[in-house]
Amino acid sequence: MKDRYLDFVNSPFGTRIARTLGLPKPDVLRRHRADQAEFGGMAAIGAGPSPGLFDTLVAVLSGIGITGVAHDSAPDWLPCAARHGAMSGRFEPRSNTGDTHPGDRVQALIFDATGITQSAELHSLYHFFHDAIRSVAKSGRIVVFGRAPSRLTDPHAATAQRALEGLTRSLGKEARGGITSNLLRVEDGAQIEGALRFFLSPRSAYVSGQVVHIGVGAAESGAPPGWSKPLDGKRALVTGAARGIGAAIAKVLAGRGAIVTGLDVEAARDALDQTMLSIEDLAPSNGAHAALIADIAAPEAPDEIVAALALSGGIDIVVHNAGITRDKTIARMSDDMWASVIDINLLAQERIDDALLAKNVLRDGGRIVAVSSISGIAGNRGQTNYATSKAGVIGRVESMASVLKARGITINAVAPGFIETHMTARMPLGVREAGRRLNSLGQGGLPVDVAETVAWLASPGSAGVTGNIVRVCGQSLIGA
Ligand code: NAD
Repeated sequence: MKDRYLDFVNSPFGTRIARTLGLPKPDVLRRHRADQAEFGGMAAIGAGPSPGLFDTLVAVLSGIGITGVAHDSAPDWLPCAARHGAMSGRFEPRSNTGDTHPGDRVQALIFDATGITQSAELHSLYHFFHDAIRSVAKSGRIVVFGRAPSRLTDPHAATAQRALEGLTRSLGKEARGGITSNLLRVEDGAQIEGALRFFLSPRSAYVSGQVVHIGVGAAESGAPPGWSKPLDGKRALVTGAARGIGAAIAKVLAGRGAIVTGLDVEAARDALDQTMLSIEDLAPSNGAHAALIADIAAPEAPDEIVAALALSGGIDIVVHNAGITRDKTIARMSDDMWASVIDINLLAQERIDDALLAKNVLRDGGRIVAVSSISGIAGNRGQTNYATSKAGVIGRVESMASVLKARGITINAVAPGFIETHMTARMPLGVREAGRRLNSLGQGGLPVDVAETVAWLASPGSAGVTGNIVRVCGQSLIGA
């Protein structure tokens, strides 16, 4: 469904009206476009004491075509293309020759806080962001690297690292112009390039205020064969692929190189065929993309799915997207409304995964990505059944991550906020407008925003990302 307010306030006439009346003006987010460079420009890099990732950051940035500009907070001996000084609280990039470019905006602010072990050292973040925050371009990115407090034995270090979460989330709420802010907690030896690419790129347009843990992934994974088609040759199953978020996931995975089997119910056969045809046009596979008709809640579904996927030699990526809502307050909810939502949204995923894993149809090194919801984090009036099912999905991801590690399989969930689909178009107007606006970016997300996040989690470069719940919600006030 179209967001007419967003379109209006970004038209020349609407911009004038919004300014005159003092109306909020959410920015049109920069999303990935095949005809535009994904990366470029400059990123300002700051660092606390003993910044363990600094060299890696500079190397990754230069590899993807972003000029790293070191802030004064980074010690002099750290290598960087250029350095800058803070003047009048404003970031002013300066090249190695000393020329300043006062008007230049940076695409990203990146801070290496991995070496911070005392809360007093958090001052280095104040120094950096105070100087640099006003220099970030529209749809720019803030990425802070830290450590997982739960893995630290020193309480002072764990305290300081936990504090980073408050800073990062607040920066997301203060920033304007479609700027996002996220915290990546990395273990020693973790590969950060895949996550850094995602969080710096337009592909993460609607992901803000998130904390992601990056561990050390299975050895055979690491860097994908090519970053533009990281899923080249991988086989993926996407449930609920006929429309909405599922169709977008199928398209994005195929666009990134995967061979996709899209699954949906008989009633959605025509829509599924249309989706799969459009995918074949977008990413030709000589007919290897396939449509599979099944009701995931049917008792025979796991065996049918296993049989269909085994025919093509197994699968690398499973995306559990199919889901339904049957909303009513619990006193008015029928037994069937409760049971059908739990069955489709939660139990079916468990049964299908159990069957795929038992028969080794999901290959070692595979990826499972489940679609949860911010309702599963915060709960929602009239959605006891839905929120229970989506919280269950989160529980499943958290509990299965360590179980699947031995096979190099990762499992993560995306938790969408308000996404413009059939599901949200059915909401009453007031609820719909509240869902759209009550987030840091002031707008709803698009199915492609969820799809891009799924594609990142499904890629070989995310081998160390498991057990995470990544909200795709523009930093919604609900579920925060
Ligand atoms: P949608 O209703 O537009 O699409 C859901 C698809 O799943 C449909 O094609 C439907 O036919 C299919 N499906 C339903 N039951 C099925 C079954 N038993 N077997 C096979 N396929 C089945 O919904 P959407 O908005 O695209 O949502 C997709 C997922 O995202 C759902 O899990 C939903 O809970 C979740 N989600 C959506 C939003 C949002 O704002 N739209 C927010 C949070 C979470």
